[in-house]
Amino acid sequence: MCVESAPMLAHLVPGPLVRVFARPYVAGESLDEALRVARRLIDDQMILTTLDLLGEEVREADEVRSNIEMYRRTIDAVADDSRFQRSGYRPWGSALPSVSLKPSAFTVEAMEDATGPITELAEYADQRGVALTIDMEDRRYTDYTIDLAVDLYQRGLDVGTVLQTRLYRTPKDLARIPEGMRLRLVIGIYPEPADVAMQDKREMKEAMLTAADQLLDQGVKVEFATHDERYLERFLREVAPKAPDRCELQLLLGVPRMTFIERMRNNAFGTMLPVRLYVPFADNWDDATAYLRRRMAESPSMVWLVLRNLLPGRR
Ligand SMILES: Cc1cc2nc3c(=O)[nH]c(=O)nc-3n(C[C@H](O)[C@H](O)[C@H](O)COP(=O)(O)OP(=O)(O)OC[C@H]3O[C@@H](n4cnc5c(N)ncnc54)[C@H](O)[C@@H]3O)c2cc1C
Repeated sequence: MCVESAPMLAHLVPGPLVRVFARPYVAGESLDEALRVARRLIDDQMILTTLDLLGEEVREADEVRSNIEMYRRTIDAVADDSRFQRSGYRPWGSALPSVSLKPSAFTVEAMEDATGPITELAEYADQRGVALTIDMEDRRYTDYTIDLAVDLYQRGLDVGTVLQTRLYRTPKDLARIPEGMRLRLVIGIYPEPADVAMQDKREMKEAMLTAADQLLDQGVKVEFATHDERYLERFLREVAPKAPDRCELQLLLGVPRMTFIERMRNNAFGTMLPVRLYVPFADNWDDATAYLRRRMAESPSMVWLVLRNLLPGRR
């Protein structure tokens, strides 16, 4: 398949097929199914999770209200589930799933309108002992997201955020992350133009190592999120030993990396870190299908990666 044809293909694929395609990457069609997946991961494989309701760029005020409601239910469900409390696995003091959200899921107009709902959810999550991460969307959101997340963290809430190393501005943004805050490092999923972002993936991943090193020096908790095993290994060998108690590996549900995790746990790389999977779940399949189509169209390479990972033999 030609990668360039993927955006068009993404729009042509019928909804039910998108669902089949997305199956390994989406925990299920309800909060209950997402919780089942999270419990199975912690109980069977000692893998932590962060739960994310699929959907973004809402168009109706009703959708904003329903997203707020769904996140409150998610926070309650996680906090009330004694099976997470019972788990003996406590890397950063808790085996509770965290929650991840996207600002564009909480506003229909100006992005600033998302501040109220996100603040309310961050306060609620914190009261209930659940950590919250504000995902990073495209470059229009970068300043907004950093400002909001840092402000909430400095008010004492357990809020983290994400930086994308493809952006040339990121080395400056790193300096704004305060000591003790959680920061997920990614290359970034949104294609950005060459005047503001690197275009070469290897360069972006090298920048992840440099950024992680700087963040650890600043006392930040680093969530290193890539599936590239060469860079996971280099992070474990070259960067994490500096402060392993402030490092975590993060992966997307459905991308097969169990062999790597087992090798790490058998001490193949000298450092052993907690692993957390990003677990997206749907509430409404129409929204989820639209979301997945957009993702496939925006990131043509994803279509190819997904197909490759479906080949037998990967775990
Ligand atoms: C936990 C987590 C949270 C994230 N949060 C954000 C965020 O808030 N904002 C943001 O912009 N980006 C986010 N991302 C996405 C990230 O920016 C990258 O787009 C994504 O991780 C792919 O890049 P890579 O570093 O894995 O390298 P790649 O070179 O793209 O991938 C390396 C290998 O991993 C596999 N792979 C990677 N991605 C996929 C996939 N989607 N499906 C199937 N196989 C795959 C393939 O085998 C590929 O060869 C997140 C990623 C993770 C893991």
